Amino acid sequence: MGVQHFWPLQPEAEAPASAAPHAALPVSAVSVSVPVPVPVPVPVPVPVPAAGGLVSASSAVAQALPERPATSAPARPPMAPARPGGVNAPAARTATAAPVTLGARPAGIESMDWATLRDTVSGCQACGLCKGRRQTVFGVGHTRARWMLVGEAPGEQEDRLGEPFVGRAGQLLDRMLTSVGLTRAEDEAERQVYIANVIKCRPPGNRNPLPEEVAQCEPYLLRQLALVQPRLILAMGRFAVQSLLKSSEPIGRLRGRVHDYHGVPLVVTYHPAYLLRNPADKALAWDDLCLARELAQSAP
Ligand code: SF4
Repeated sequence: MGVQHFWPLQPEAEAPASAAPHAALPVSAVSVSVPVPVPVPVPVPVPVPAAGGLVSASSAVAQALPERPATSAPARPPMAPARPGGVNAPAARTATAAPVTLGARPAGIESMDWATLRDTVSGCQACGLCKGRRQTVFGVGHTRARWMLVGEAPGEQEDRLGEPFVGRAGQLLDRMLTSVGLTRAEDEAERQVYIANVIKCRPPGNRNPLPEEVAQCEPYLLRQLALVQPRLILAMGRFAVQSLLKSSEPIGRLRGRVHDYHGVPLVVTYHPAYLLRNPADKALAWDDLCLARELAQSAP
């Protein structure tokens, strides 16, 4: 099953202007299949307001840890070392400096069911991104999917339609899923994926979300992860990857290995919008999908 059959490598038209710039930022195409020791940045807790008082981002995350026990990744692909530290190290951030407006985060996210979680997100005003959204983009897919895909933040079309990965990038994602026997359409948990973003509201001008906004929104993603209990996470795009792994390294140096996100094996790959502009890297994305499929098939 060759990659060419499913994803023609010839250049495709440029992604529409509505595609989020943070979803199409150039990244290194260098593939490093052997883990490389990297400097470990110093963790910097980000104070954020929450119901009942100030909490740090790290404590908020700890409160929302998934319920499922840690999943052991297969021994063959080496697990990358944990990377504590700032979500957006200075070298990785391109967002313009702007005043950060934070509100109270709803309490009890870590114990919410699907309906309550969805309603809570739709009314969330825990950061300033709520002011510019048409609607929140919660997530779609099988609530017990084996594969959980995590993207970055809603772009213009996602904000309008309320669904992640739409437009030409979404169509390419659909072809990528089909190539490994998966779908976002209604199906059994073995084949239907669950898709969510790190950030649920569209940043103005499609800028990169600020670290304080990521910290405010991450408990929702963690609760989705705890409810789905996937066998693996496929993190797509530089911003999503760096946010989840708390790393400033480019995707080219993070892909090809198995990482860990709160006990769930995580595989890194390029965002479909990036692949539309850089079709030569579809071969690398195919390798990433094959690694993810191997993990999913070998997980208990
Ligand atoms: S981005 Fe997340 S934390 Fe901010 S308002 Fe939207 S749902 Fe709430």
